Amino acid sequence: MTLSRYRNLATFAALSSLASIPLVAGQAGANDDSGCAQAEYAMGLRYQQQSAEAVALQRQGFELATYRLEEQIEAHGDDADLAIITDLDETVLDNSALLVRDMQACHDFTTWDTWKHWEREGDPRLIPGAKDFLEFADEHDVAIYYVSDRYQENKADTLATLEALELPQVSEDSVMLLGPPKSERRAEVEDGHTLVMQLGDTLHDFAGEFAEADLEEQRTLVDDNAERFGKDWIVFPNATYGDWSEADLNAWEAPHEVD
Ligand SMILES: [Mg+2]
Repeated sequence: MTLSRYRNLATFAALSSLASIPLVAGQAGANDDSGCAQAEYAMGLRYQQQSAEAVALQRQGFELATYRLEEQIEAHGDDADLAIITDLDETVLDNSALLVRDMQACHDFTTWDTWKHWEREGDPRLIPGAKDFLEFADEHDVAIYYVSDRYQENKADTLATLEALELPQVSEDSVMLLGPPKSERRAEVEDGHTLVMQLGDTLHDFAGEFAEADLEEQRTLVDDNAERFGKDWIVFPNATYGDWSEADLNAWEAPHEVD
C-alpha cells in the first residue's frame, strides 16, 4: 500500500464519475474486451504479472541487494547490530491477482476499497528472489524489519500471510504497519540498529521527503540521491500503481505519417 492510495482516495469522489464513462471503441487496452476505463490498467498489469523482464528485474534487484549487504557485513564486522528495512507490497509480495480481478470487473483498484479483503483472505505470491535475499540477511544475523502501509487492523492476517510464505524473522515487532508515517517507523529501527539497506517499489519507501513531493520534485530528488540507488536503496519495478499513474504523457509533435 502506498501514500498514493490515500491521495487517490481523496480524489476518488471527483474521478469516479469519469472512471465509469465507457471508452470509445478501440481505446480499450489490447486483448481486453471490457471496454471500460479500467482497461487502461491492462498494459501495466500484463508487464508486472506476465513479463519475464519484470522477473529478471526483480531477481537483478535482489542479487544486487545481496552483494551490497555482503559488503556492509564485511565493512561492519561481527559486533555491529545491522538492520535492513523492506517494504512488502510489490517488493516482497506480488498482489497482481487482486488488481487483475478488479480491472477485469471494471472496478478501479486504485480506490483501494477491495484491499482489506485481500489482506484478510488473499494469497499473494512471493516476488522472485525476495525469499533467498531475506534468508541471506537472516543467516548473517542482520535484523529484518518489514515496514509496510498495510492496515494495522489486519496485522494478524498479514503476519499469517508472511508466515505461510516462510519468510524469516516475522514477528509482532518486526512487522511495522500503517499508523505512524514510514519515516517515523524508519527512525524507530535506526534507534536500535545500524540501518544499512532499504528495499521498496515506491520512493517514499526510502525517505519521507518523497512522500510530500510532486512528480517533478520526485525526479529531482532521485537525481539528488543518485548515488544511493543500487547501493543502500534498492528499487523494484511496479507498473501497476504509483504517484505517476495519472500523469500527462508527452508526445512527439511531428504530424502523423505512415509508410
Ligand atoms: Mg510497495
